[in-house]
Amino acid sequence: MKIGLAPGACEGHAQCSVIDPDLFPLDDDGFSAVGPEKEVPPGEEDTAETGVDACPVRALRVLP
Ligand code: SF4
Repeated sequence: MKIGLAPGACEGHAQCSVIDPDLFPLDDDGFSAVGPEKEVPPGEEDTAETGVDACPVRALRVLP
């Protein structure tokens, strides 16, 4: 399973990082550092989906 951040879509609300700061790290300016494609470690799929759903501007998504 992979997650990704849509380029330029993050507005720095940090709701993703509240769910899991390791899966959803922020950069020094408070924006998501997930990048366009990030592998989710085994067993963390549910947390990843929760974090993706937590983003109020839908900047994150689960990749096919
Ligand atoms: S990806 Fe969404 S929830 Fe995460 S920091 Fe950016 S705007 Fe906030």
